[in-house]
Amino acid sequence: MRTVTSAQQYPIFGSEIKCPHCHQTIPALVLTDTYLCSRHGAFEVAPNGKDLVHLQSDRQWRLWENEWYRQHTHPDGIRFEIHESIDRLYTLGYRAIKVTIAHRYIELVKPYLEAYSNDSNLQRLYGLSVEFSPPEEEAIRWGIINFEIEKELGTPKCYPYFRSF
Ligand SMILES: [Zn+2]
Repeated sequence: MRTVTSAQQYPIFGSEIKCPHCHQTIPALVLTDTYLCSRHGAFEVAPNGKDLVHLQSDRQWRLWENEWYRQHTHPDGIRFEIHESIDRLYTLGYRAIKVTIAHRYIELVKPYLEAYSNDSNLQRLYGLSVEFSPPEEEAIRWGIINFEIEKELGTPKCYPYFRSF
């Protein structure tokens, strides 16, 4: 049974959080590990105290600087998120140059990379060169966020990564 102190009345992320799906502020249920969104139902803090789990879908997120980052378990999930991000940059007038993907996704993503020279270290995804984060940084930020895209102003000459996958 939990001891009731003010600090322990709420789950580890506090009395309210932003729903990872709709971003509205949603309340914790007192004396549980649960947050309840009126649109998306219950989210529960995993026993590791790091992951927030959507009970209906089993999707998981981790928090970094007040933003939820989806934790992918299927290659399509991470690939779709990268693709969406490239599209968003394009609509904002940027061209994506390079993507750095968190090291923990290396096995998920590897089969989808295209080599573009004889050097096996040079690989691409959606036309962008790909790197992975340093494995020794897994414990901090790179253990939570999924990828980072290097960009510059300007439209791509062609738009090779704009295609279905
Ligand atoms: Zn919601």
